[in-house]
Amino acid sequence: MKKIYDVAIIGAGIVGMSTALKLQEKGKNVLVLDKEKSPAIHQSGRNSGVIHSGIYYKPQSFKSDLCIRGRELLIDFMNTENIPYRIEGKIVVDNDIEKIAELNKRAEDLNMTGVKALERNEILDLEPNCKFESALYVPQAGVVDYKVVTEAIAKKFISLGGTVEYFQKIKNINSQNDLKVLTSDKDSFSSEYLINCAGLFSDTIAILDNIEPNLRIIPFRGEYFVFNEEKSHLVNNMIYPISDPNLPFLGIHLTKTIDGKIEAGPNAVLAFAKEGYKWSNINISEFSKTILYKGMWKLGKQYFGTGISEMYRSLNKKVFLKEILTYIPDVELSDLQPRVAGVRAQAVSSNGDLIDDFVFEESNNSLHVLNAPSPAATASLAIGEFIAQKVN
Ligand SMILES: Cc1cc2nc3c(=O)[nH]c(=O)nc-3n(C[C@H](O)[C@H](O)[C@H](O)COP(=O)(O)OP(=O)(O)OC[C@H]3O[C@@H](n4cnc5c(N)ncnc54)[C@H](O)[C@@H]3O)c2cc1C
Repeated sequence: MKKIYDVAIIGAGIVGMSTALKLQEKGKNVLVLDKEKSPAIHQSGRNSGVIHSGIYYKPQSFKSDLCIRGRELLIDFMNTENIPYRIEGKIVVDNDIEKIAELNKRAEDLNMTGVKALERNEILDLEPNCKFESALYVPQAGVVDYKVVTEAIAKKFISLGGTVEYFQKIKNINSQNDLKVLTSDKDSFSSEYLINCAGLFSDTIAILDNIEPNLRIIPFRGEYFVFNEEKSHLVNNMIYPISDPNLPFLGIHLTKTIDGKIEAGPNAVLAFAKEGYKWSNINISEFSKTILYKGMWKLGKQYFGTGISEMYRSLNKKVFLKEILTYIPDVELSDLQPRVAGVRAQAVSSNGDLIDDFVFEESNNSLHVLNAPSPAATASLAIGEFIAQKVN
């Protein structure tokens, strides 16, 4: 007779694996299924690698609470598992002193210690090449390789008796005698409870489970450039913009990665496939679903100009360079090499709003993570803890 698991999780990204670990630690018998050959092949292995402080997000939102808690859990986990990371802080720049003051006030409300508005000479002490006149220093920010973190979480989960099955693309979900039966091309699996952590495909999986979410996942590619080694000295840690609350993922940043390279990016370009990592990755069926979605029409109407300028920047390295030069001088086109892109799973409501907060939807014996964009890598262990509390 086939084994019946307490919980089956679709998706071996950082959110799925963290949830699996927290449930297995609670004594549940957990199965993780992924269509790929290993963990973190998609968003979790193709991001900026930033450990976020939590300062950017609306207080008392899932993003704010779970990012702050998740950062603590992540640092504990990385210390225990000897995963390399750096917490050297970032500067958030804007020439509008009022915006800096607002963010500083947010840090005070969140009891974040050490956050500080910087004068020009203090900015230059931290980032000697930064062109901005005003900035906020946020010491809690850091960098890590989230692929390494996800692999370590998977290893820990397996060491506690958890099961992961790769090359299992789930195509059907049925409810039979209070069990969830998940079917791939090759096998079927039964569990008492289902958790959907399928990232870019979380809307598709929810629909397979007979849920009609009031949103769709729209794929936005984020492209990066890496500086040549001779220009690596231009940035010490991280230089970030203050994001627009309506378009939180817009605006590139400069980051020194865990392996000491300087990256600039990401932009935000509508992808022609859910896993559309290049302009040439086109999936007609997925792209037609994106453009025929009424929420996408409404979003397109609102932000048509922004969308076009992001596409233009993607196709024109000079425009990307121009944005880098607003932060620091002395970078030339020949200093920039493209890096692998990532694609964000961004939920858009049927009203055309970009949904900012994380979204969790519960149904009969199932829970669907329907929006887990940045900072979900930072927040992942807290997301897992939060979900594990909901599963009896
Ligand atoms: C460009 C970019 C930059 C980012 N920067 C940061 C950052 O600096 N800091 C931060 O905290 N966050 C960042 N994020 C966000 C973070 O990477 C994501 O929020 C996080 O990785 C989401 O994890 P996940 O497990 O939900 O999704 P994923 O990692 O995408 O995992 C989903 C998994 O589901 C699997 N799957 C899908 N459909 C099926 C199916 N039918 N059957 C079986 N398996 C399936 C996929 O193969 C995949 O492995 C960034 C994201 C991007 C794209």
